[in-house]
Amino acid sequence: MSSPPSYLMQTYARQPVSFIRGQGAYLWDTQGVEYLDAIAGVAVTSLGHANPEIAAAIAEQSGQLLHTTNMFRIEWQEQLGERLCALSGMRRAFFCNSGAEANEAALKLARLHANAKQVAEPQVLVMENSFHGRTLATLAATGNLAVQRDFEPLVPGFLRVPYDNIDAIREVAAQSPNIVSVLVEPVQGEGGVHVASAGYLQALRQLCDEHGWLMMVDEVQTGMGRTGTWFGFQHSGIVPDVITLAKALGNGFPIGACLARGKAAELFSPGHHASTFGGNPLACRVGCTVLDIMERDHIPQRAATSGHRLLAALQEALSNHPGVVSIRGLGLMVGIELDRNCAELVGRARDEHRLLITVTRGTTIRLLPPLICEDSQIDDIAERVTRLLS
Ligand code: PLP
Repeated sequence: MSSPPSYLMQTYARQPVSFIRGQGAYLWDTQGVEYLDAIAGVAVTSLGHANPEIAAAIAEQSGQLLHTTNMFRIEWQEQLGERLCALSGMRRAFFCNSGAEANEAALKLARLHANAKQVAEPQVLVMENSFHGRTLATLAATGNLAVQRDFEPLVPGFLRVPYDNIDAIREVAAQSPNIVSVLVEPVQGEGGVHVASAGYLQALRQLCDEHGWLMMVDEVQTGMGRTGTWFGFQHSGIVPDVITLAKALGNGFPIGACLARGKAAELFSPGHHASTFGGNPLACRVGCTVLDIMERDHIPQRAATSGHRLLAALQEALSNHPGVVSIRGLGLMVGIELDRNCAELVGRARDEHRLLITVTRGTTIRLLPPLICEDSQIDDIAERVTRLLS
């Protein structure tokens, strides 16, 4: 299919398909072809496409009030902040519009923390293979040279260590007195669906306490039930100092949040940080509606059950497949690593099996279905992937 000339900047290698309608776990293209969506807008539409309760909340709120400014108290923002803090153990929230912005806010907290400690050249520990966004600071935090290439000089102040390796952090800590915080994902998503081992975040929490570092957990992809708990860190029984959220918090409506507790929650004072759109009445009402549905329908628990089902089905069908190196995941964040580059499978899954998937790091098929999937849809995803690999 040849596309007409585009007036958009060439930031994406787009696939030759365009969707005009969605419902639940399905999308329909301009030709009326139906696809099963195992990407969910990259972990965004967890409650499904065209969710009627979210559509109703958007319609009602847009008829009442879209936007004021953060110079005024915004009731929906207060409510969303309180509810997210109650679920996460945090104390205060800052609202923005994306994951990268949420991480920028966290990185600014790390700078303020450094100032308070009188560390003139502070460093944030970040991980190999991590992903934190595309703004100048978050791409510098990201552990992927392809994201950083051509944007040098990078924002300074990041120190990189291997993921899921606590000894590497101990070694670096002994030599680097300027470390002030750690930024880590509980499961690396873009980095290839790597789940941190049991005990890793606990050990990291302990190191943060020993050294006075802020423990900042990027929950942009893992948060809001995706891994089977409200937030990915909750599998480890620890509580970070700062967490960041976006993606599924708005089910497709743009919203991000940086939450903090303890001293970290008191670091910002008026004038330190701001966002024109961040936390507007519409975005926060959508966030509250997402929470209403997720709480009522026990969505995190459902993600845990469906995740087990999907992993079990894939393992049964594919673990002896000669090209499959590993099948792993947590909740509905699942990766199938192959022994070769498999980027071409995205197009084959779409065109031959009407299944939408992504491939990360060249060799790992990543599945991020909506969390509202029925068992039969989870089984259908496993079957289509199995046929794709057969
Ligand atoms: N952090 C993580 C863990 C992510 O997966 C992403 C996006 O994929 C981001 C941050 C950046 O979020 P956004 O694209 O909303 O800026």
